[in-house]
Amino acid sequence: MALTLFNTRGRELQPFEPIKPGEAGFYGCGPTVYNYAHIGNLRAYMTHDLLTRTLRAGGIRVRHVMNITDVGHLSGDNDTGEDKMVRSAEERGKSVLEIAEFYANAFFSDIDRMNIVRPSIICKATEHIPEMIALIKRIEEGGYTYSAGGNLYFDISRFPHYGELAMLRMKDLRAGARTGPDENKRSPGDFVLWFTKSKFENQALVWDSPWGRGYPGWHIECSAMSIKYLGEQFDIHAGGIDHVPVHHTNEIAQSEAATGKHPWVKYWVHNEFLVLDKGKMSKSAGGFLTLRSLIDKGYDPLDYRYLLLGGHYRSQLQFSWEALEGARNSRRALNDRIRALAAACPALSPAAGNPSSGSAGRGAGGPAEARTAAFTAALEDDLSSPRALAELWGLLRDPAIPPAEALAAALNMDAILGLKLDQAAAENRKESPEEAAEIEELIARRARAKKEKDFAGADAIRNGLKERGIVLEDGKTGTIWRRL
Ligand code: AMP
Ligand code: ZN
Repeated sequence: MALTLFNTRGRELQPFEPIKPGEAGFYGCGPTVYNYAHIGNLRAYMTHDLLTRTLRAGGIRVRHVMNITDVGHLSGDNDTGEDKMVRSAEERGKSVLEIAEFYANAFFSDIDRMNIVRPSIICKATEHIPEMIALIKRIEEGGYTYSAGGNLYFDISRFPHYGELAMLRMKDLRAGARTGPDENKRSPGDFVLWFTKSKFENQALVWDSPWGRGYPGWHIECSAMSIKYLGEQFDIHAGGIDHVPVHHTNEIAQSEAATGKHPWVKYWVHNEFLVLDKGKMSKSAGGFLTLRSLIDKGYDPLDYRYLLLGGHYRSQLQFSWEALEGARNSRRALNDRIRALAAACPALSPAAGNPSSGSAGRGAGGPAEARTAAFTAALEDDLSSPRALAELWGLLRDPAIPPAEALAAALNMDAILGLKLDQAAAENRKESPEEAAEIEELIARRARAKKEKDFAGADAIRNGLKERGIVLEDGKTGTIWRRL
């Protein structure tokens, strides 16, 4: 495949050349499960989905790893504030693990509803503490750490590449542009690898470590788990744009300090934010929109999926109810068109086989193939889903394309778009009770004709049904019918 991705590392479009040909190791930062995901968070997972589906459609074997943060994430990404999990558990009168399980389940139900393919490997921070400790030990052995106030810190001044991803300048960092309230830090950019002297008396989850009983900083989990499942160097790492200056910058520092290998990750993919007309959406600030709140207003989660596909992942997307309404109308029109095509070509049942090996292959070089090629080219051009959607519509509106070809090509495209167009096509296949009764009546009439030796009449009924895409099979217990 000829995929080009915008690599935040270097800030340019680059051809995707995996480390191992034909395979891609991909790590996407997952949710902190202290609350429901808001629809902005879901944009990040939708971007991961678009990327994995595009790679897979291009024949690349993708190992997609996602973490679940259930410890260590403070309300400020810069080691400030309270532990998000602990605060949520307190507010709700539950244990941290109960909170984590509840919101992790809610998260998976959200992504399932949006038809986001689940990652190949889902790993929880609390189940990888030994891996984190082992990695921190390697960082410490390399001389990149110091202890202060009971915590173990990463000393960014020891790591020459620090801040390259975010194009941060060491000079600015040292000058204290981001002075934090943590007086233990030698430089405001230094960050905690392991907390022992917790500022939270009530820290629920603590583990023994060479640095004392405590818990990990937030960033180390992603380094430890991605290295465990994808190796010391891998292809793609993704997350929201907010992760560039702190979380991903610190992940790189830790990982490369521990392994000595540069670059740790070849391609960095960051999605822009979904914004409300009122401004930023934030989980911590409360008052955010969840997928449930969209469903409660009568929208289908796939309407929201369609809305997201309509924007390029690297552009800010403004959410509004009008925009969601527009997406719903477009998706309805799309499904209507798919149903009409399915009705016009009863011989092509989506259940009857793989559309890619079906009539889509016919007429190579024809307009359906041209649309499919343009669709693929759009996605391979830094995942341009708006252009890909436009190609789908172009295909469906082209009167020169025979219905069977248009339908087959659309279903193929939907392997990446994930709009469940096959369901719309299949709905059309469900006969009404009247139609089913009519078919049964014709079968009975044919049986009578055969009994009366009117074979021509019997064949006429069979052929008439066949023209409608219905075949009859005579067995010992009578005749059954099925769609072609
Ligand atoms: P969190 O659960 O807070 O760690 O965030 C999960 C993911 O959502 C991260 O990749 C964030 O960068 C991303 N994210 C947070 N807010 C938004 C937003 N408004 N629009 C798009 N992505 C977001
Ligand atoms: Zn991460």
